Amino acid sequence: MGKIEFANCQDVRNQKKIRELDCPRCHEPGGIEAFVKDGILAEDGVCDNCGYILPEGTELEEVEYEALKGIPEKLEL
Ligand SMILES: [Zn+2]
Repeated sequence: MGKIEFANCQDVRNQKKIRELDCPRCHEPGGIEAFVKDGILAEDGVCDNCGYILPEGTELEEVEYEALKGIPEKLEL
């Protein structure tokens, strides 16, 4: 009894946020809609463009770093 109210308070604190992430594979900007909680993916995120799956538990920083690394270098021929 009374525990339900307490649980609701916890839910508000731990709410998931939706973040649009650039896909690490095809680099589609905002291609992956991810549920993020405490900087970590709370659910698998799937790229709308290529179907790439970011697994649950992936850290956002990791994804953003990968996306930066993936920028193609200019090739001078
Ligand atoms: Zn993709």
